[in-house]
Amino acid sequence: MDLDGRRESTNVEDRRGMSGGTKFGLGGGIMGIIIALVAMFMGGGDLGSILGQMGQMGGGITMQESTDNNGQPVEFTQEEQELASFSKKVLGGTEDIWSQIFEQQGLGEYKNPKMVLYTGSTSTACGQGQAAMGPFYCSGDQCLYIDLSFFSSMEQQLGAGGDFSYAYVIAHEVGHHVEYLTGVLQQIHSKMARYGQGSAQANKESVRIELLADYLAGCWAHYDNQRFKSMSDGDLEEAIKCAQKIGDDYLQKRAQGYAMPESFTHGTSDQRMRWFKAGYQVGDVKAGINTAMQQDYSQL
Ligand SMILES: [Zn+2]
Repeated sequence: MDLDGRRESTNVEDRRGMSGGTKFGLGGGIMGIIIALVAMFMGGGDLGSILGQMGQMGGGITMQESTDNNGQPVEFTQEEQELASFSKKVLGGTEDIWSQIFEQQGLGEYKNPKMVLYTGSTSTACGQGQAAMGPFYCSGDQCLYIDLSFFSSMEQQLGAGGDFSYAYVIAHEVGHHVEYLTGVLQQIHSKMARYGQGSAQANKESVRIELLADYLAGCWAHYDNQRFKSMSDGDLEEAIKCAQKIGDDYLQKRAQGYAMPESFTHGTSDQRMRWFKAGYQVGDVKAGINTAMQQDYSQL
């Protein structure tokens, strides 16, 4: 992916190095980590739907850029700095592209979300966010929460590395923000609440919202490449390979040897690859929303 000369978004809050309260440790062995990691990008889409608690929480932390809880400056490795800059550029691109798409496709005014970079754990309007959940979007404060170490976990544990895969992760979360702005996320969440969290029916609704976020990430890729020539040879394949490795069936088989379709919340590898690709090829937001919302579940 070529981001040379691209601007960094300023809608970013850097909480890295600040402890969000609870000390956080990864437990449960490697497989536990993998399942937990994909729980949000990949699981939930909105932290509120998982924790079942909405509304403003906590606060109480004074935000200061690049200092730890004791006010000491936090030093980042060059790799960490590069990843942060990369993420800010990708987010900046989503701002430009989604403003353009909203205008061109008659979707109203696009309002930028905020991206919060954090390490370990942080408070959000949807409850306490933890890195093990993977990147997630909270509609309560319209923020994307990302612990950048997720990207190296993707590469090391899932073999789904590469800059375009990382951009796809960010674009997927922005996709949930687009769902929020278009009202789709709220519709699905109220359905899920009626069915009961974790029920087979609620899980099916979750799959709809996740496949749509993949489709919307594909739409972003289509227009970002058209406008900025951002994609290099192999990038599309890299994102599709990433989508394949975060399919529910793939991850469950890998973790426990078998897959339980009624517990899928994000869609199969095949579905995630198809929806991302369709978004990339078609680029029509309303068409994607209509299909995701109205199509019979077995046809998704
Ligand atoms: Zn998601």
